[in-house]
Amino acid sequence: METLHRFSHRLLPIPFAEKCLKTTTNTPFLKTHIPISKPGSFYPKPPFNTNFTARKPYSSSPSSSSSIPRASWFLGLGEKKQKSPDIVKAGDPVLHEPAREVAPDEIGSDRIQNIIDDMVKVMRTAPGVGLAAPQIGIPLKIIVLEDTKEYISYAPKEETKAQDRHPFDLLVILNPKLKNKSNKTALFFEGCLSVDGFRAVVERYLEVEVTGLSRYGQPIEIDASGWQARILQHECDHLDGTLYVDKMVSRTFRTVENLDLPLADGCPKLGVR
Ligand SMILES: [Zn+2]
Repeated sequence: METLHRFSHRLLPIPFAEKCLKTTTNTPFLKTHIPISKPGSFYPKPPFNTNFTARKPYSSSPSSSSSIPRASWFLGLGEKKQKSPDIVKAGDPVLHEPAREVAPDEIGSDRIQNIIDDMVKVMRTAPGVGLAAPQIGIPLKIIVLEDTKEYISYAPKEETKAQDRHPFDLLVILNPKLKNKSNKTALFFEGCLSVDGFRAVVERYLEVEVTGLSRYGQPIEIDASGWQARILQHECDHLDGTLYVDKMVSRTFRTVENLDLPLADGCPKLGVR
């Protein structure tokens, strides 16, 4: 799931920001890029994306001309170590296909561990607060999520308070099973790394419980509320082949640049229901 912001792109004019970005591609992204972010992403994307364009992610289509490198990457072979995978963007049918469970005897394999490492790297580089394996073309039930003080500090305090958003350490969950712990819900804008530059209001449960396995195969159970619960629901949806656009309040769908504009007549109010 994409981090949310609505203000950082106003700190500097875009042309200046872009000029700066080209010179800072190889520097640690967190502190360097935040003040010069531009509309559509929490951090700017072009310098990062250009590093990922050489290889396409796994495709479900065996007839694809790029199926050989995709498959070899999926199997953990060949060029695997050289580059991080691309994020699959909305429009690729793989995002609407359900993922399969990771078998217990697969968990300790290099392939699964490498996939997890790649997912964490891609999420942090994007950057986002969550990523599901299908988003890098891997149809397996694996999610990673993380929210940091630093990410949160770039959103208005009143907004993060309303969202009940708090930092939490990296979570890697295999074969997650999610259930809501109450019928209370909240409506807020959310974004997705697979749906660049857009946001929409989605109604989510306020409290959920997720059980699954750690990256080492140990059972884990997470009781989550607020924004963390939202991220978990968003990522688990990916594993069912569901994007937020499949369940959004469609009249609220808009570009990040228009995030502050009033909602259209008839749209539900943001906040807890
Ligand atoms: Zn997403």
